[in-house]
Amino acid sequence: MKTSFYDLNFNDLCEFVQKNALNESVASNLFNWHYKKKNLTKCTKDISKTALALIDDKFDFELPEVDLVHESADKTVKFLFKLQDGSKVESVLIPFHNKYSICLSSQVGCAMKCSFCFTGKQGLKRSLRPSEIVGQFLMAWNWLAENRPGEERILNIVFMGQGEPLHNFDSVKKACEIFLSKHGTSIGYQKITISTSGYIPGLKRWADEIPGVNLALSLHSPFDVKRDELIPINKAYPLEEVMKTIDSIPLAKKQFVTYEYLLIENFNDNIEDAHATGKMLKDKRAYINLIPFNPIPDSTYKRPGNERVAAFKEVLDTYKIPTLIRETKGDEVMAACGQLNSSEIS
Ligand code: SAH
Ligand code: SF4
Repeated sequence: MKTSFYDLNFNDLCEFVQKNALNESVASNLFNWHYKKKNLTKCTKDISKTALALIDDKFDFELPEVDLVHESADKTVKFLFKLQDGSKVESVLIPFHNKYSICLSSQVGCAMKCSFCFTGKQGLKRSLRPSEIVGQFLMAWNWLAENRPGEERILNIVFMGQGEPLHNFDSVKKACEIFLSKHGTSIGYQKITISTSGYIPGLKRWADEIPGVNLALSLHSPFDVKRDELIPINKAYPLEEVMKTIDSIPLAKKQFVTYEYLLIENFNDNIEDAHATGKMLKDKRAYINLIPFNPIPDSTYKRPGNERVAAFKEVLDTYKIPTLIRETKGDEVMAACGQLNSSEIS
């Protein structure tokens, strides 16, 4: 069985090069070809024939296949990718100022079963390998190069697609190491954000294993009772412990933690909840993202009106916490956050 080339970080590749007594430059040449230049074809340049034969023997270069592409009027692009075993996952390109952010999936489905989330409805099928995470990025980049030439600039990576990234820590970590590598895509630490529902076993590994990467917590309520209903793992990992663990992660200069707050009408969008959230976060290096609920099929939750969202933000402003209302992009193709579900088409 061959290993995927895209499962290896730069150190793994260097080890392979050393073990096989290949020229030292092989690792950097390969990273340059596949990750800096983002070629999808095999590398044929600057590497000896013997080395190429050995690499061919050991590695496959398969990437996720683009199964469907949906473009919306606001330039958001949703991809449905087909993986080698036939599973399907989605990624979304979100435009901002002539650049793109990419929202990546980390699992097929999700085990956390949050009550408001379309992905959670399908349960966990399996976790993705690093190559399947990195592959979403490379394929989306190449799609841009082909379809919107000159616009292939994906400068931010967010793990906010399908899955709980910290429940697939090893693969997400390796994918981050590949993205960060100066020999390849060279994406900055603070251009990568991992969003979590509060999975403490993963948060505990953060400081040692992925320091510097941005953290977003799906908070959604400052109260355990409400959080228990929204995010069932809150019962196992209650908010106070989640916050303690997050507070123990050192932040770089000017680094903030993002708290995502999903607003559901008459559930967690009232003024008292806004005050409680403000009190909880006012002394922390926090940003808040308010996300009005995106309707999903068979849900009784409702999206609050704009005035209620604005009133919630106004309260937070009094606590001097930078708060952004996340405008929904890609609504018409169900590409907004929390609307990703590939089960009906897989
Ligand atoms: N599993 C991780 C990351 C993926 S979900 C997490 O839960 O944080 C990415 C974001 O989309 C989370 O903040 C999640 O709470 C939000 N989300 C999920 N379903 C949503 C919906 N129906 N409307 C709006 N946001 C939603
Ligand atoms: Fe999983 Fe996040 Fe959806 Fe919860 S909100 S079910 S953790 S993807």
